[in-house]
Amino acid sequence: VFTASRVAAAPEDPLFGLAKAYREDPSDKKIDLGIGAYRDNNAKPWILPVVKKADDAIHNDPNLNHEYLAIGGLPDLTAAAQKLVVGAESPAIREKRICTLQTISGTGAVHLGGLFLSKFHPLKPTIYLSDPTWANHNQIFTNVGLNIAKYPYFSAKTKGLDFDGMVQALQAAPTGSVVVLHACAHNPTGVDPTQEQWRAIAAVMRERNQFPFFDTAYQGFASGDLNRDAWAIRYFVEQGFEMCVAQSFAKNFGLYGERTGAFHFVSAPGSDASEANAHIASQLAILQRSEISNPPAYGARIASRILNDPVLFAQWEEDLRTMSGRIQEMRRGLRERLEARGTPGTWDHITSQIGMFSFTGLNEAQVQTLRSKWHVYMTKNGRISMAGLNTNNIDYFAEAVDSVVR
Ligand code: PLP
Repeated sequence: VFTASRVAAAPEDPLFGLAKAYREDPSDKKIDLGIGAYRDNNAKPWILPVVKKADDAIHNDPNLNHEYLAIGGLPDLTAAAQKLVVGAESPAIREKRICTLQTISGTGAVHLGGLFLSKFHPLKPTIYLSDPTWANHNQIFTNVGLNIAKYPYFSAKTKGLDFDGMVQALQAAPTGSVVVLHACAHNPTGVDPTQEQWRAIAAVMRERNQFPFFDTAYQGFASGDLNRDAWAIRYFVEQGFEMCVAQSFAKNFGLYGERTGAFHFVSAPGSDASEANAHIASQLAILQRSEISNPPAYGARIASRILNDPVLFAQWEEDLRTMSGRIQEMRRGLRERLEARGTPGTWDHITSQIGMFSFTGLNEAQVQTLRSKWHVYMTKNGRISMAGLNTNNIDYFAEAVDSVVR
């Protein structure tokens, strides 16, 4: 029988624990570098001006109601989400080889894909995750009953990609394995393969008949250029891979709490591809129905309005450049300050890494001192959210890092 008192307490989620400690610190110098959400130069959440505009228009729409969306979500959103990720001119769209369901943001998309593979993949494949990866990948894939394994990704020595380690691991992984790839702005390291490296990764995966599962949570947010940030996914589609894509609109629209995202299954080209893809869509719809019935409407309406209106779309691109530009400025500013101080070590990785996060190379003891002595909050693996830095705290942070490194 079930005995409630036998259920052991679970450990606190490390990121939410960090956020709590930050909130409770009374110091006026404190800096939050843990949170994975964009902050403006005053360390405040930023509502994208284009999102505000779309939101106002929706509020004033006399036809708005609160009916359920379809099981697959808002069709205008899912169609636009496909184009955004694979490119409007992609043969995969023309040949009806992609099915898309709106999901509970990127997390829900990863989950739906994991659940689908766990139910329908004939081999119960092992899912290969980068070491390190977004911590939730481990939990989500384990929860749906899949085995997970790691491939090397980050080199502590260069603070860049361990390309050789990664390729060797893929060569050694069983044929047919599923490989989770971060499309851009890898979380937590900020390290992405170059286009040449992506080509080589694709070549190995093709040879080993491996299955890519792309996670794209930062399109447009990383470089400020939506196409550039989608390059790897589009390259794999061009190469004819069958694959999953989990897409989040949390960061690039600043719609974190609205839980807006999409899951795509792309079938490989072939005469029966569109029929096979329709079968997959029908099975995904059943899974979705049993899990969430249908996805939330609010964020989907906002994102859809922006994606489908050329004027709003252009303004969105401008807002993306504002966010990515501020982050790039903070990267340059931090590196400059550390180098000017002669802080021991090399700091070029701060500017070569991309996106929300930087893997600083600070060790756990240094992170601990930053917290206890300097009121700087970051995860113990040395990751900082660049969005937590601004012109008011960057000097103080550089001074703090310099002091703990010496
Ligand atoms: N995947 C990666 C790599 C992420 O970094 C995140 C967010 O931090 C997500 C997925 C999903 O986030 P959300 O569920 O908020 O869209």
